[in-house]
Amino acid sequence: MGDRFRTIVDLDATAEDAEALAERALAWLVAEGIVLAEQTHCVFGQPVRPPGPHWARTAAPEDSDGNPSDGLAVTTGRTVFHGGQDQAEWADCPGCGGRTLFGPGGEEQDDPWADDALSHGDGDAADAGDEEWQLFSAAVGAWHATGEGYVECRHCAVDVPVTDWIWQPGCFALGHLGLEFWNWPEFRPEFVAELGRQLGGHRTVVVWGKL
Ligand SMILES: [Zn+2]
Repeated sequence: MGDRFRTIVDLDATAEDAEALAERALAWLVAEGIVLAEQTHCVFGQPVRPPGPHWARTAAPEDSDGNPSDGLAVTTGRTVFHGGQDQAEWADCPGCGGRTLFGPGGEEQDDPWADDALSHGDGDAADAGDEEWQLFSAAVGAWHATGEGYVECRHCAVDVPVTDWIWQPGCFALGHLGLEFWNWPEFRPEFVAELGRQLGGHRTVVVWGKL
């Protein structure tokens, strides 16, 4: 079975304002009856607030996961929020919209990296996607360590901050504030949008997975 999580990450929260934003979001979630104010137990060492009387306002009507059984944990500080998979299949450049595919099987027909891989004679074009992934992975690691990391877009040749890439949904988010809902049904999009408004109109993204 495992434990499922769905994390709403504020992409615009900074190291400086993440704590205040977390408090603001929590106050709203408690006032709406979505979670209770008191932290009652822990999931993987993190204290969680259990579902409130109106938790169903957050849930997509078609979700079959049923009632939430754990609750909300809040993470602040520079964090790589990742979903259940080891890696994303793609990321889109926010500037030109060009897509970078990751391996294995991540090569494109006109992919110069694929040609490069083939010219080395291993004959495995999937190496191209793997190589792209290494670049992104290194940039994510640099961001986690220093707060800065860049990947050059191979379509437009712009050095794009790793925080600005648009990842395949659910896989990754880099940010300073994450609201982690454990064993909670799928979110209604309106709930995620309203939470973004409560966070000052910040951009949000949902990352999900299972541990
Ligand atoms: Zn680009």
